[in-house]
Amino acid sequence: ARVMPTKGRRTVGAWCFVDLMGPMDAVEPDPLEVGPHPHIGLSTLTWLLEGEALHTDSLGTEQPIRPGQLNLMTAGHGIAHAELAAEPPFSGVQLWVAQPEATRHGEARFEHLDALPQVAIDHAEALVFVGALEGAASPARTDTELLGVDLQLRHGVTVVPTDPAFELAVVPLEGTVKVGEAIVEPGWIGLVPCGVDELPLEVQHGGGRALVLGGVPLGERIQMWWNFVARDRDEITEAYHHWRDRTDRFGAVPSTLERIEAPAPPWLAPPR
Ligand code: MN
Repeated sequence: ARVMPTKGRRTVGAWCFVDLMGPMDAVEPDPLEVGPHPHIGLSTLTWLLEGEALHTDSLGTEQPIRPGQLNLMTAGHGIAHAELAAEPPFSGVQLWVAQPEATRHGEARFEHLDALPQVAIDHAEALVFVGALEGAASPARTDTELLGVDLQLRHGVTVVPTDPAFELAVVPLEGTVKVGEAIVEPGWIGLVPCGVDELPLEVQHGGGRALVLGGVPLGERIQMWWNFVARDRDEITEAYHHWRDRTDRFGAVPSTLERIEAPAPPWLAPPR
C-alpha cells in the first residue's frame, strides 16, 4: 500500500515516499525480490516488521537486515541496489527521504544500524530510527532535520512530545490510531502541520503500532519519477539514459537477480 505521496501531499519534512510492503492482507504474498535498479537524489530507509532481507548495492555492500535494524542508503548523484527477502512471512516499510540541494549531487553512501535507542512514553515503547525523541537519539546520519519513530502502543492516550518546527505524519501499521480527533486506519496517513508540540495518539484495547515521521519542511520543489528524485525532467531524462546505457554512473550490483529496466519517461514517448 502506497500511503505517500498522495494526491494532496508530496512530502512531510523531507520524507517523500512511504510504502507498506508484504502480506498485510495477502494470503500468499510473493517474496520480496527486487532486482538491481538505480536511485538518485534520495535516501532509502528499509524498516522490517517481520522476516529477513538481504541488501546489496553498487558500493559493494552485502548486508542482511532484520526487524529493529535500519538500512539507510543515500543515493546522491547515483547508486544501484537489489533486495531479496529470505523466507516468508515478510513485511516491512520502505521509506524515501528527498536529499536537499546541498547534498543531492554528492557521493552515495550506505549505513546499517542495529543498535537503535528506545524510550518509554506514557503507554508506548518508541524505537527511534531517525532523529531524536525524549533524549533518545538515533545515530543515523541525515541531510535535513528528521524524525522517524516506531511506536508500540498500548490501550490509552500517549502524548508524544514533538518539535513545532516539524510537520508530522502518523502511519498506522497495526490497529486504528486516533490522532487528536482524527481516526486513522492502516493504509492511510494522518498529517499534522507545523506548530504542534504534543501529538496525542490513542489506541483501543488490543493496542496498536504506528510510525511517526516528521521533519522541517523541505522548502524545495522536487520532481519524482520512477526511482529518481530530482528537480526537473531534464535531470530525470539524463539519469534514465545513464541507466539504460549502462554507464558507470550507477555501478554494478552484486546480485543474481535480474536487472530492472527503466520505463521510458512519458515525456520522451514518440508522438502518435
Ligand atoms: Mn530501491
